[in-house]
Amino acid sequence: MEKQAEIELRPEDRGDDYDAIVVGSGYGGSVAACRMSRAGIKVCLLEKGRRWKAEDFPTDSWKIMSAVRYQNQNLGIRFGPEDALFQLYEQNDSLAAVACGLGGGSLVNAGVMLPTPIRARRNLKWPKEWERDWDICESSAAAMLRIQSSSVKFPIAKVMGEIAGAEFEANIESSVKLSVNFDVEEPPSNPPRLEQINSCFACGNCLAGCPYNAKNSTDKNYLISAIQAGCTIRTKCQVQYVIKNPHGICQPGGISRERRWRVYINEIDYITSDWVILSAGVLGTTEILFRSQMRGLRLPDTLGSGFSCNGNNLAYVAGWKPCTPEWLWIEQKAIIRDTFPR
Ligand SMILES: Cc1cc2nc3c(=O)[nH]c(=O)nc-3n(C[C@H](O)[C@H](O)[C@H](O)COP(=O)(O)OP(=O)(O)OC[C@H]3O[C@@H](n4cnc5c(N)ncnc54)[C@H](O)[C@@H]3O)c2cc1C
Repeated sequence: MEKQAEIELRPEDRGDDYDAIVVGSGYGGSVAACRMSRAGIKVCLLEKGRRWKAEDFPTDSWKIMSAVRYQNQNLGIRFGPEDALFQLYEQNDSLAAVACGLGGGSLVNAGVMLPTPIRARRNLKWPKEWERDWDICESSAAAMLRIQSSSVKFPIAKVMGEIAGAEFEANIESSVKLSVNFDVEEPPSNPPRLEQINSCFACGNCLAGCPYNAKNSTDKNYLISAIQAGCTIRTKCQVQYVIKNPHGICQPGGISRERRWRVYINEIDYITSDWVILSAGVLGTTEILFRSQMRGLRLPDTLGSGFSCNGNNLAYVAGWKPCTPEWLWIEQKAIIRDTFPR
């Protein structure tokens, strides 16, 4: 039987030199680390947060308070553990919440897996050939995250169905699928199961982490697969900035004698690699890029603008009027520019 991988530092793998460094371990970072490691690339994944076990997740309001780090730019205050599960940024009338931990947003999100809308698949920003592979990639992610139709009628499913109604022509409420396990006994799966997972109790604690180990967050699939393929994972390791290695020389064929990038994990220590994948989420990635720009990395002036998050969904759930993408864009840009000034 294949030995179960454990998510922990593997001392024999500690080195400061990799083919690729992946920053962040949400969906973006986990998939990148998994795919590259399985392709034989020497990968190191750096995650700011810690590993969260099922029994560690907060299950009441008091415990949630201790799992929050809060920063208010206007008041100049910040409190809470640096690696808290929830990182809150407040400024003016905007509040942004992001997850922090091995698994990123997959630890605390609702796990709803909606099919990608056609307008997103055909977005001209993506390479044309991606549209052709989209279905294959979506099925592969569905298998890895073991998505299932919900046997429980969660009230939130109705809300998600209404939001999705704007994106999809058909009513998809009945077909909402979740990366949560509802089977009492696990069915055989392909790819093979990487970690024992329990059945959902419909306790409703999903958005503060699953205390029953029933949610398929990325630490239970992509990251374990990455480790099995040789990836090194470092938790509690916050990337500060990235610069080009002044000694990195590119030889013909793209192979460098010294690695091309330096990834600083504090003001002194850095790790080198030929590729860096910044997948630290909307705020985390932008923060690293602003800091890198201050250290001389050339980046476009548009940095900090033109991206989105699912704040519109959260606002909808909270009963606010639907807001326009422009409104969201301006608010997020304000938060990012002022929280991480150049
Ligand atoms: C409450 C909530 C519910 C949601 N529900 C759904 C849903 O039902 N369905 C759905 O599809 N999406 C949902 N989402 C959105 C989804 O979770 C995110 O889109 C997704 O997690 C983004 O993935 P990511 O890899 O880009 O970033 P993240 O998941 O945010 O991961 C980024 C990681 O990078 C780490 N990091 C940040 N800065 C640094 C640094 N400097 N150095 C090292 N590491 C760093 C963070 O700690 C984090 O672990 C929800 C989100 C929230 C907040």
